[in-house]
Amino acid sequence: MELDPGKLWRNHIDGAWVPGGGGEITVTDPATGAVIGRQALADAADVDCAVAAARRVHLSGALADLRPVERARMVQAMGRWFLEHRDEIAELLSRDQGKPVWEAVIEVEGTARYFEYFGNLAESVEGITIPLGGGYADFTRPEPLGVTAQIIPWNYPLEMTGRGIAPALAVGCPVVVKSPELTPLTLGCFAEAAVAAGLPPGAVNVLCGLGPVAGAALAAHRDIGNVVFTGSVATGVAVASAAARSVVPCVLELGGKSAAVLAEDADLDRWQADLRWGIYFNAGQVCSAMSRVIVPPALADEVAERARAVAESLQVGPGPDAREAGPTMGPLVSDAQRDRAEAMVARAVADGARLVTGGHRLNRPGAFLQPTVLDRVTPEAEIAQAEVFGPVLSILTAADEAEALRIANDTDYGLVAGVYTRDVDRALGMAAKLRAGQVFVNEWFAGGVETPFGGVGRSGYGREKGRASLMNYVAVKNVAIRLG
Ligand code: NAD
Repeated sequence: MELDPGKLWRNHIDGAWVPGGGGEITVTDPATGAVIGRQALADAADVDCAVAAARRVHLSGALADLRPVERARMVQAMGRWFLEHRDEIAELLSRDQGKPVWEAVIEVEGTARYFEYFGNLAESVEGITIPLGGGYADFTRPEPLGVTAQIIPWNYPLEMTGRGIAPALAVGCPVVVKSPELTPLTLGCFAEAAVAAGLPPGAVNVLCGLGPVAGAALAAHRDIGNVVFTGSVATGVAVASAAARSVVPCVLELGGKSAAVLAEDADLDRWQADLRWGIYFNAGQVCSAMSRVIVPPALADEVAERARAVAESLQVGPGPDAREAGPTMGPLVSDAQRDRAEAMVARAVADGARLVTGGHRLNRPGAFLQPTVLDRVTPEAEIAQAEVFGPVLSILTAADEAEALRIANDTDYGLVAGVYTRDVDRALGMAAKLRAGQVFVNEWFAGGVETPFGGVGRSGYGREKGRASLMNYVAVKNVAIRLG
């Protein structure tokens, strides 16, 4: 795909493509460092315009007062638009973010799936009647709570946006999306899809801007109904603090340091097959990555060898060259992210871990890091506690199930966890004791858009995906009527 490095990618506010008051940044291809475009940056005044446009849509009833089936059809049409443009969007995402083209295709299809699923659910949001005795009639009205602010990270910019705006639009909330500075180029697709689907101007606003400028202005805005934030813990705390000043509710989807616990009877072939996705998909830049594996001492050597085999089977190279699904891994999103991950591995080794394989940048331009496996990692080591957000697996040992659970639960995070065992009783017992928002048994990433996703602890609060996430965008009003 030819990209004009001189092209200015603009923001979409109130139905128009506009530059921004915040200047611009250059966007680079992480596989080469080459400039692939210029992105206009919104400032606080642009954020004001976007929120005002969305608020006008909300107050006009152009979304909120529709019969739900009409919203359902538009939301589903947005999903179909993504599928119709799948290949070109995937190419662009690969250039912008670094992931192999075939992984980008999966992301575009995953994005479309959110619109299909939440479009299907749009007609299912119903109130209830509440009996108050013969003298009253009482019912509830689930009403859209207004403008939703969606602040998006760079690792899955399309899927994270689809995850938030599909349910919002399904229940009738207009949206303001703050694109990530590192990977902004594909986010305008949501505005194009909204126009094609017939949504009113101002219903879907997409702007890029620096986090501390546009992101902070959006999170602190008094006219938004909620903030859905996906990103790091530190930024999540800043966003929630800003929103709290206007008593605006948040959903926070933050990081993770998720562990797979292998029992003695684990099916190691199955675990090994999952590892390829668990820690090397998107070069490990996945909040729910299998970044730790906790094994009985008797299995430690075999698990390390199996992990080495997976890591060394991967060919690392530019995402745009990797069109067919296969054992390929792209660069990290930026040189800074690669340097950080590489330094964490070096400190882990200095702390006493053994480098089983990988650990180093590639001897070529681009933000490439070798797929990495560390074993003999101790539970209190930095590498066992802090999110790397890169292709780095840590192997730890635990003498028994109780110790494995203690190690698995003993980080600040609590996003996901996994259990590999053939014993269902054991799996259910451990699932109950693991401190995480979701537990995978015998398949990492089991679940889908239908299953609730979110964290406990510093991994955040609130749930996205699944039917219940529609309620993030609803205010329930009770109407009580005195009869006679
Ligand atoms: P980040 O926190 O640096 O940035 C996320 C977004 O917040 C960006 O759009 C950024 O511009 C914006 N931002 C930055 N400062 C801000 C401020 N002061 N006010 C408002 N917005 C601000 O995160 P990142 O580096 O882009 O993403 C990586 C992190 O995201 C990892 O920790 C990862 O685990 C997490 N993540 C979580 C999930 C999940 O669903 N739980 C999914 C993907 C990524």
